[in-house]
Amino acid sequence: MERLPPMRHDHQRLRRATTSMLMAMGSREPEAKAVADHLVDANLAGHDSHGVGMLPHYVRNFKAGTLVPNQSPTILGNNGQFAVWDGRNGYGQVIASDAMEWAIGVARSNGVAVHGLRNTHHIGRVGAYGEQAAKVGLLSVHFVNGNSGPPKVTPFRGREGRMSTNPICIAVPGTATTDPIILDFATSRIALGKVRVAYNEGKKVIDGALIDADGAPTTDPAVIYEPPIGAVTPFGEHKGYGLALIAELLAGAIVGSGTIQPANPRDRGIVNGMLTVVIDPERMTTRDFVEAEIDALIAYMKQTRAADPALPVLVPGEPERIARAERVAKGIEIDATTWREIQDAAASVDARFDVA
Ligand code: NAD
Repeated sequence: MERLPPMRHDHQRLRRATTSMLMAMGSREPEAKAVADHLVDANLAGHDSHGVGMLPHYVRNFKAGTLVPNQSPTILGNNGQFAVWDGRNGYGQVIASDAMEWAIGVARSNGVAVHGLRNTHHIGRVGAYGEQAAKVGLLSVHFVNGNSGPPKVTPFRGREGRMSTNPICIAVPGTATTDPIILDFATSRIALGKVRVAYNEGKKVIDGALIDADGAPTTDPAVIYEPPIGAVTPFGEHKGYGLALIAELLAGAIVGSGTIQPANPRDRGIVNGMLTVVIDPERMTTRDFVEAEIDALIAYMKQTRAADPALPVLVPGEPERIARAERVAKGIEIDATTWREIQDAAASVDARFDVA
């Protein structure tokens, strides 16, 4: 079948189309707007895997009852600086952001706050929560696990999926002259959403990211969607596998949300657990010292002579800022398959996804 070319769309139009589609699915306007902003901001940041292309999955889970609009998270336990939130299958973007507001308030007055999320539908791009803390001068650490059907990421040396792509985010606030440092990535060699985007676009993925059902390396994303099913590899061999496992333990066991071990249910849509620690950097030394060190260190990194002059040294958070500037100006490119999937999903709930 002939593939249609991708189209570019203005981010404001995408925000409006997404908001009205989510409202048609029952969300009140503030929730619809918050989720739409998160998704479109992920596209702007260059992470199409977590952008509006997730809408068909949200529709599928909404219809199955595993995504429930208009949920207010409940605090299960709040012991001063520790809180555990039950997301009640609500939109993770709203619940995680509310939990961050709580943690920011507590960290400001007490120096540190720790929160756990359970039963939260997909929280999206984890860096958004790191940015939320960094914006007000706090640092944050996030470990996330995921449960969305059969696990796709194999342990190092394995050839079968045993975990989700378990992202980790560490965010350090910026200064008057240095932007925040936002490290935010899946512990798999490639985020699953990027495998989906490649599959939809009929493209190969990078070397070393996938193995087929026999354990042989492949760049064909079909091994994740068409039997016989293969697996996504962890990044950094045993190191990435170790981090993925720790994320599973912290976000699944410690927070009380449940790990991916087989006795736990697998058919709950896309559920994320998260362990978050928010820290006020002024509790161990002065902000002046911290900021002077941040400025000096980041400048030192940026002044490194590049191995390839066309590819300068960047710092975490910078690729997203570069993508954002370009996509705000030129629009967000969406491939034809993803576009059709969004349109079909909207029609299936008597909604429209209209960017006119
Ligand atoms: P990625 O591989 O693109 O890595 C992104 C990180 O690396 C960012 O911090 C970025 O600033 C940094 N980076 C990229 N190039 C760099 C360079 N040249 N120099 C310095 N730093 C650089 O990210 P990913 O693994 O594809 O993850 C994409 C998104 O998917 C993330 O936002 C993640 O939170 C999200 N995610 C969410 C879930 C979930 O269940 N909610 C699961 C997996 C991933």
